[in-house]
Amino acid sequence: MPDVLHGVGVGVGIVVAPLVKMGRPPELPSARPVVDNAAEAALASGALAAVSADLAARSLEASDPTASAVLDALSMIAADPTLSEQVEELIAARTDAPHALFNAFEGYRQMLTEAGGYLAERAGDLADIRDRVIAVVLGMPMPGIPTPGHPFVLAADDLSPADTSGIDTSVVLALVTERGGPTSHTAILARALGLPCIVACAGVMHIADGTIVGIDAGAGTVETDPSVDRRRALRAEADSIVAELGSLTGPGRTADGHPVGLLHNIGSVADLECVDHEHFEGVGLFRTEFLFLDREDAPTFEEQRAAYAAVLEAAHGKKVVVRTLDAGADKPLPFLEMHAEPNPALGVRGLRIGRARPEIIQLQLAALAAAVADVPGSDVWVMAPMVATVAEARWFSEQAHAAGLDTVGVMIEIPAAALRAGEMLDVVDFLSIGTNDLSQYTFAADRMEGTLTELLDPWQPALLSLIAMCAEAGIEHGKPVGICGESAADPALSTLFAGMGITSLSMSARSLPQVRRALSKRTLDECRQLVERALAAEDAALARDAVVNG
Ligand code: PEP
Ligand code: MG
Repeated sequence: MPDVLHGVGVGVGIVVAPLVKMGRPPELPSARPVVDNAAEAALASGALAAVSADLAARSLEASDPTASAVLDALSMIAADPTLSEQVEELIAARTDAPHALFNAFEGYRQMLTEAGGYLAERAGDLADIRDRVIAVVLGMPMPGIPTPGHPFVLAADDLSPADTSGIDTSVVLALVTERGGPTSHTAILARALGLPCIVACAGVMHIADGTIVGIDAGAGTVETDPSVDRRRALRAEADSIVAELGSLTGPGRTADGHPVGLLHNIGSVADLECVDHEHFEGVGLFRTEFLFLDREDAPTFEEQRAAYAAVLEAAHGKKVVVRTLDAGADKPLPFLEMHAEPNPALGVRGLRIGRARPEIIQLQLAALAAAVADVPGSDVWVMAPMVATVAEARWFSEQAHAAGLDTVGVMIEIPAAALRAGEMLDVVDFLSIGTNDLSQYTFAADRMEGTLTELLDPWQPALLSLIAMCAEAGIEHGKPVGICGESAADPALSTLFAGMGITSLSMSARSLPQVRRALSKRTLDECRQLVERALAAEDAALARDAVVNG
């Protein structure tokens, strides 16, 4: 019998392939005397330049625009003159290149952490860049994704954005991590890439490189060294899942035909390029802030109008839910000129910016209305992020109507808003639940903090209760309530949400077939029974177990 390791499966899919572990970061050797300052400085600056160039090259190769932007940002950090100046100073004080780099990166990390907000989020990537640079200085293989020359299952302690931005899905067939949880970066990436994945899989890093493993994401299992017969059985099962995913088409619905809209999360028109229009039901979340980030001035009316019109054109008359600017202290925009806040996640962000600076949201709504006029037959729904009170919802609705937009909603991302979902629906046409932030604010757990993944697990019964309350309010008002956070892409959760009365689920394109398949396997009545079981569970693991194995 092969050994079986258990973890938390993300998505569905079965893969049988050799396992290869992620390159480990280099160990810092003992300090050595510096004999030639100039040579030492050249060694360090050459390594920084090589890593920066490598990241930039990988950015060009990355097919996903988000991955490419992350790699560009990391490449710029490696090339930052502040960093190289610190390294030079340390070397001038007779520190060897590896230690000078290590210490300079530590200083840089502290600087970013103290800056807070968006910059502090980037601090987590620094250790990864540092390890790459030190590996180059020591003449060791670059830590990161291995290149064994054949397709493989990638195993790692956990995966950072810098590692995963370079993943080539023609060779990396599945991901397994020792740590992490269902909302960790690895899980989010696996959903975006459509890769079978198992997180929190204790013991996976003890498997020897090259061992054949059978990964079953649906079951959350890793079988080591399965017999030839077992491999054959696993491959047959894998083929039948792939065939089933490919054969299921049309709109999202339960086994007995109850509709649950399956929509796309997008950041720009590029995300709609590969959409199969035959099965496309629309966009459930268009994150417009990507237009505003990384620039000194606000985008003009015409720039915004053109960007929105391009998305409406590409949607071919299907519904497009546009979210107004969701930025603020945690994603600072230079032109907002806002002061630093001690708790950016609790500061002036989302709709609060619109309230403080109405001209920004008014320009955005006017540009959106102009785009609607430019694209006859378009179906635009507009919603505001980070709404806390009914008064805010009413204010937003008035602004949107004044701009000439008819279908207006709000995101439910703050528990206060979920608790008043019914009253919100008295003043708006629809709700869209952003479970990423709703988890963060319900559990007082920073969504960027990897060690809090247990609290951020979307199966937490308290989060499920809030979602159920919103769904009930939607049923009472006869108005749509969708979900557009990461949890919408979890196939097992989708059946639970359908049972609650959620009307649509919005996710990355790759997650859609799995969710469509999960919904098609249960009747609405069965989905409703799952809700009772999940809400009665004491914790996230038991709630998940009640739905997946119940
Ligand atoms: C959310 O919070 O769930 C959401 C969809 O918004 P974002 O992830 O962009 O904050
Ligand atoms: Mg959010």
